[in-house]
Amino acid sequence: MEILVINAGSSSLKYQLMDPETGYVFAKGLCERIGIDGRLTHKVPQRDLKVEREIPMPTHSEAIAAVLDVLQDAEVGVVRSVDEIDAVGHRVVHGGVKFAASCVIDEACKQAIRDCIPLGPLHNPANLMGIEACEKIMPNKPQVAVFDTAFHMTMPPKAYRYAIPEEYYEKDHLRRYGFHGTSHRYIAKRVEALTGRKDLKVINCHLGNGSSLCAIQNGKSVDTSMGLAPLCGVPMGTRVGDVDTTVAQFIADNYGKTIDEVLTILNKKSGVFALSGGVSSDFRDLEAGANEGNEKCRLALEKFAYEVKKYIGSYAAALGGLDVLVFTAGIGENDAATRASICEGMEWLGIKLDPEKNKLRGKERVISAADSKVQVWVIPTDEELMIAQDTAELAKR
Ligand code: AMP
Repeated sequence: MEILVINAGSSSLKYQLMDPETGYVFAKGLCERIGIDGRLTHKVPQRDLKVEREIPMPTHSEAIAAVLDVLQDAEVGVVRSVDEIDAVGHRVVHGGVKFAASCVIDEACKQAIRDCIPLGPLHNPANLMGIEACEKIMPNKPQVAVFDTAFHMTMPPKAYRYAIPEEYYEKDHLRRYGFHGTSHRYIAKRVEALTGRKDLKVINCHLGNGSSLCAIQNGKSVDTSMGLAPLCGVPMGTRVGDVDTTVAQFIADNYGKTIDEVLTILNKKSGVFALSGGVSSDFRDLEAGANEGNEKCRLALEKFAYEVKKYIGSYAAALGGLDVLVFTAGIGENDAATRASICEGMEWLGIKLDPEKNKLRGKERVISAADSKVQVWVIPTDEELMIAQDTAELAKR
């Protein structure tokens, strides 16, 4: 089977054509500047091939048309016709309380995604544009929606309820939803496959530009660090993470900002970027800065590792123990120094890294010492594969 995986943002659209069984990637790429002018970057990994094209993309429809064109291109394409694509899988950020699993896209599914717009105002409209553009251009192709929130629907009320007046929960569904669910689910499955056990207490640290931790018991999410939106939890590239809400009120009152402006500050100008004094949101730059003696970069790195460490401690308490700790995503897979600072002093919990094994980037491997009670793994995540597998499975029915 060949599944086209689409991740549509407001002005960008990522795509990947892959085999859901083997994970083989035929081609992948990115459309950028949709609604502005339009640029397509297309890669064929097996041929080490990369092309860039300027293509007008006033809307997501032209972007999808450009993707289908390049996939069929005589020189850089990988299919002879669109008929070779069996189905399309879409990443959808917010599934609200309606989606505990992926679903075939029909009118009811689209309406439910639309109903979740108040909960995911930044992402769901763009996801819908991607879906509708595909429907327009490939009307008979099965399409599936895979939600970032779905994996966390197994959380118990004590984890997902906020201690706010009941009406906001009952009427408006304000609660913890959690994100990166497709990544956390992939890791839960990999841990099961790698250890041969389902009955484990696992903490997955998805640490990238956006970061979240997930407590997993018997393969199911029981708690996670992001909430109603992907803003809370550990500090991120530019997102603040957990913060006293009074900070928002103070900034609004004292700087004459609207709530939207304050949220933009907390989403786009905070996190390690802010702590570093505006040096960077990228850990490679922060580490270079810290190595050159920049104290703000050092603090940003220290604060990040400290907050991740605190979440690991609290999730070990929530799980009543810990068998496996996993690092994944850009920082988790590549940044040995950050993994080491997070795990430093965690021997009391049974976490002991092997410094040699930890010298590793982007490979699936155990990095804990032989006598570590908790197995620590680096597992590169693969959200696209999960989306492709769900899509193949649902499209077959
Ligand atoms: P992601 O959002 O998962 O793509 O992660 C992107 C982030 O991973 C970047 O902003 C960097 O902070 C981090 N990252 C990627 N490669 C490295 C590396 N080699 N060392 C440290 N951090 C890295």
